[in-house]
Amino acid sequence: MAVGRAMMFLRFSGCNLRCSFCDTDFSTKYIFDTPTQLLTWLKSRTPKPVKDLCLTGGEPFIQIDTPLIKELMTVFPRIHIESNGTLPWPDGLLSSLADSPTGVIYLTVSPKTGSTWNTSLRPIAVKVIDEEQDLRQYTQIYGEFPCYYLQPVTTDDLVINQQNRLKTAQRVMDNPRWRLSLQTHRWVGVV
Ligand code: SF4
Repeated sequence: MAVGRAMMFLRFSGCNLRCSFCDTDFSTKYIFDTPTQLLTWLKSRTPKPVKDLCLTGGEPFIQIDTPLIKELMTVFPRIHIESNGTLPWPDGLLSSLADSPTGVIYLTVSPKTGSTWNTSLRPIAVKVIDEEQDLRQYTQIYGEFPCYYLQPVTTDDLVINQQNRLKTAQRVMDNPRWRLSLQTHRWVGVV
């Protein structure tokens, strides 16, 4: 949804799933005792004009809560959350934002084959890895509203990666509700 926009990324360690293609580093590099501590650390690394923050993982819903999100929104009014779509929103978060909005949350879910999806989530975008699966299962659950993104599998083999990109591009042409997702940050070397 926000491809190309300058954004800070906050990657939470740990996940409740174990996907075979997962390339996430689950090691814990930093531990913060309070939301304020985390925000102070984040601010010291953020170029001043950047107002977008992406919470990703691992699975951020395991660790985030309402006080943390409200604290982060004092600096980052646009919070983007990337979730595997299996867990519920933190207690009280949506109601507290509705009562006193300080920012906006954009939720992207990336549901994985074989996991139990939380069908009550209403994401703004759905992004899935192209495993040649039936794409109708996603649109049947999440409906007309979200943007749908299909992402080729990335491996260590450059030739296979190019073959995967062409294969996924063809699937998008065959399923025009979907858009091709190419992990722009990898292409420009911002990881
Ligand atoms: S949901 Fe994402 S972070 Fe979790 S195991 Fe699967 S690929 Fe890795």
